[in-house]
Amino acid sequence: MGDKGNKVKGISRVGIISSHLVSSNSSSTPPMASSEMEAAISATPSDSPTIFDKIINKEIPSNVVYEDDKVLAFRDIAPQAPVHIVLIPKVKDGLTGLSKAEERHCEILGYLLYTAKIVAKQEGLEDGFRIVINDGPNGCQSVYHLHIHILGGRQMNWPPG
Ligand code: AMP
Repeated sequence: MGDKGNKVKGISRVGIISSHLVSSNSSSTPPMASSEMEAAISATPSDSPTIFDKIINKEIPSNVVYEDDKVLAFRDIAPQAPVHIVLIPKVKDGLTGLSKAEERHCEILGYLLYTAKIVAKQEGLEDGFRIVINDGPNGCQSVYHLHIHILGGRQMNWPPG
């Protein structure tokens, strides 16, 4: 049958798939710092206040890039890309992570995604960006207050690792 069925708008699937594969020694892929992975693995999932409460309450400094009555966005202290912003709901309401989401959280979850787009635009990420929500130990979550990572300013790779 040839590769006719494997073409999407004239681009072969092999081409599309290979564009998502990057060799493991790519210099554009920062390897995850073992300290970050250790922090995530050793973090105990809990509903206790986190460092993000201190940031919300301005008890510790942060580099805020966006704030309104519902959400706060600030630069990550350990950036994994030229632009790396953490976006959080100001009221946790049990949302230690995405896996704790309940129907009542739909509004704030949608608002966070919409705000991620606003922040990405504000940061000049017209060529694209990535949002990440780490959940639980396997997802490398280290802070148990739901947050969206907004990453951009460089070519992202796939798979993310
Ligand atoms: P996660 O590993 O998905 O739970 O993400 C937590 C993120 O919070 C990490 O990327 C940390 O670098 C970041 N982080 C922790 N403490 C601070 C802080 N004081 N200011 C800014 N970012 C922070």
